[in-house]
Amino acid sequence: MRRRLLLPLTLLAIPALSWAFFKPMRVLAPQLAGQTCVDAVCVDDPSRLPQAEAIYRDALAFVNLQVGQIASPPRVVLCSTVACSQRFGFTDNGAYTVGVSGIVISHRGWAPYFARHEMIHHLQNERLGVFGAWLGRPTWWREGMAYSLSLEERRPLPQPLQSYRSGFDQWLSRSGRDRLWTAIPRENPATASGKP
Ligand SMILES: [Zn+2]
Repeated sequence: MRRRLLLPLTLLAIPALSWAFFKPMRVLAPQLAGQTCVDAVCVDDPSRLPQAEAIYRDALAFVNLQVGQIASPPRVVLCSTVACSQRFGFTDNGAYTVGVSGIVISHRGWAPYFARHEMIHHLQNERLGVFGAWLGRPTWWREGMAYSLSLEERRPLPQPLQSYRSGFDQWLSRSGRDRLWTAIPRENPATASGKP
């Protein structure tokens, strides 16, 4: 009897534990983490919803036009407060992307290039598969694309991000823009540190 109960209880406990300890999973149900959602945009401070919707709309249109068509636009969660950012697991980063499920932007990440950067990661995940985008592709290509094509404003970026961006720019000028998605380099241990 006890053993029969154990398995269902364990299965019940796994999602609860994941919810508690893997904070990025909260993007799957942001309402449970105190967010107000209208369509694909979720905010902790409803007074900032119009600003959040404009950031989302502009980033989506920009990436569709400049980088590649997004098949399934992601949900975007935006935090206005430190407490909200902590609920979603932020430490000092500005934003992150969870597979093809959604994007989370911290209270530090409301500049439009953050949303464009994460939207590019979402597109990479759609085109290459979540694991295909992160395994076997050089970091300089994956991150360099996001920093370069989002028109990130920081110049120079802190290292190694600056190397990623300049490496990607060199690769793009050699490969050509029309081969952005067809000439993707493979990971090579000798080049994994940010040098193309
Ligand atoms: Zn990135």
